[in-house]
Amino acid sequence: MYNKKISKILIGTNNPGKVKEIRDLLPKSLNVFSTKNFKIKSPSENGKSFEENSFIKAKFFSKKTKMICLSDDSGLEIDILNGKPGIHSSRWGGKDKNFNKAINKVFREIKKKDKDWKNKKIKARFICALTIYWPGGKIKKSSGKVEGYISSKKKGKNGFGYDPIFIPLNKKKTFGEISPRLKYKSDHRYNAFKKIKKFF
Ligand code: IMP
Repeated sequence: MYNKKISKILIGTNNPGKVKEIRDLLPKSLNVFSTKNFKIKSPSENGKSFEENSFIKAKFFSKKTKMICLSDDSGLEIDILNGKPGIHSSRWGGKDKNFNKAINKVFREIKKKDKDWKNKKIKARFICALTIYWPGGKIKKSSGKVEGYISSKKKGKNGFGYDPIFIPLNKKKTFGEISPRLKYKSDHRYNAFKKIKKFF
């Protein structure tokens, strides 16, 4: 049964931005469910890595629904902040997961490290860990990343999270400025998804 292509899946996240992006990566013929269909609260993400947290979510939502589940744990690592916000990317937005708050915190923390940061290239990357969890207990993990820089200003309204301040390597525009179609073809989630595509 594990070798059979997956025809029905639950996207194991309560983050609407991610549901949208993952749905767009999956084949249109797939029967896709989101946690909204089941009204399940997210588990506490107490893993120490993106990989662990992605596994925790996939297992939790699969157990709750008895469905095959695909979960993502992702975030932004900034070199000058020693990899922060990292696995705490979502938490930097506070209880209400306010992305503006999170972005302002990024700017504040970078400025604390280097007052002249706006004239420098602040290296960063988005990381994504995906897990497919089958109700029988089989798992498949995959991860992907996209390297880039932090923009000195928030730019663009597309995407979600830190998209308005992330400029991919060798590009001029932030993920918030480029079209979602272009982002999906180059980002951390796509790079992780490519490796597990064969299951769908
Ligand atoms: P979590 O994986 O649900 O813990 O949340 C990851 C957080 O990382 C999101 O809430 C965003 O703040 C950030 N993040 C992850 N992927 C992206 C992306 O593609 N664009 C912008 N922000 C992202």
